[in-house]
Amino acid sequence: MQKRRTFIKQTGILLAGIGLWPHYAFKKRPLKEKLGVCLVGLGNYSTNLLAPALQLTQYCELRGIVTGTPSKIPIWQKRYGIPDKNVYNYQNMDRMADNPDIDIIYIVLPTGLHALYAIKAANTGKHVWCEKPMAKSAKECQAIIDACIQNNVTLSIGYRMQHEPNTKKIIEWSKTLPYGKIKKVKAHVGFKITNPGNTWRMDKELGGGLLYDVGVYCINALRYTFGEEPIAVMGKHENTRPEVYKEVPETSIFEFDFPNGSIGDGKTTATQSVNLLHADCEKGWYELEPFQAYNGVQGRSSDGTLLNTYIENQQARQMDDDALAIMENRPMMVPGEEGMKDIVLLEAINESAETGKKVMLS
Ligand code: NDP
Repeated sequence: MQKRRTFIKQTGILLAGIGLWPHYAFKKRPLKEKLGVCLVGLGNYSTNLLAPALQLTQYCELRGIVTGTPSKIPIWQKRYGIPDKNVYNYQNMDRMADNPDIDIIYIVLPTGLHALYAIKAANTGKHVWCEKPMAKSAKECQAIIDACIQNNVTLSIGYRMQHEPNTKKIIEWSKTLPYGKIKKVKAHVGFKITNPGNTWRMDKELGGGLLYDVGVYCINALRYTFGEEPIAVMGKHENTRPEVYKEVPETSIFEFDFPNGSIGDGKTTATQSVNLLHADCEKGWYELEPFQAYNGVQGRSSDGTLLNTYIENQQARQMDDDALAIMENRPMMVPGEEGMKDIVLLEAINESAETGKKVMLS
């Protein structure tokens, strides 16, 4: 590994010098090794998105599973050739510490369980990937960060959008300001949900609710579109179906004050279909619609610039970016601190909704 790192570093310096870094370099470099990923929690996201994406990745592959449902084991073993020694449950997953096949443990559980199992994962000495939202509270986020520091392992949060090319362009524009100062940004995500069912997503204790589930995309987008942190937060919850939305909000509306008077307008709702990130600037505007989707993220701007859809697997791109960063000893693109900033703001939205007052952050 050490030789490999030295090689990659030296090659990087050389290629950067001739303008080929990083796209060409990564594609041509012969691959000797992949990192082993163990998925924890074999629900919809692991089954239908992450495991298939791990068949496309260059720098990591699916080698292990943790599940509490024994009937899923033979299906996964057969589909992905996972040996018995790489199959765990929630009680014995700490034994992974002795398993050299596994380099990364990926937490894909209900949000309210992220902290418990991400900390267990860190304590095995393996690198930790944790799905968004990072955890239920900022306190839990901090505990995950601390466990990873103590165990000297990396931590990455599964914000796939930050790896998506059009989103990266928006992040770049927060620094280069091609349309002048950004005055107002809107980030709204909603679905018309007639029957939300009876899953953990409706359970407050397990971290349910749209504000957690997709609200973090809006919060994250307001932050990365401005490239700044808000200084104050107003939040409000609305509920037109209290008999259905008993524990978690049906709609959450929030406004962030950014330095210099700029405004962030956020919304998540189960009453309306919407998926828009729009930035109004001094000399024009730009937007992505949808801005939060597995594919088809696209946009436009006031001067006719188009941000066309990229045909690629977002999850594969995210996991390869993170695996390569681990191999090359580089910082994670979306570290735990980034996930925690969104949860701090989410808690401020809830506090403001409860008190009716603006929450000052600085
Ligand atoms: P699911 O409900 O489909 O699956 C969750 C899995 O967690 C279950 O199948 C089960 O797996 C395990 N589990 C363990 N304990 C419990 C419990 N008490 N209640 C329910 N499930 C339990 O959820 P998703 O796969 O949709 O979401 C999982 C995580 O992934 C969430 O944090 C979510 O926010 C995130 N996510 C991220 C997305 C993204 O685009 N980045 C998209 C979708 C989800 P088992 O039977 O194997 O034990």
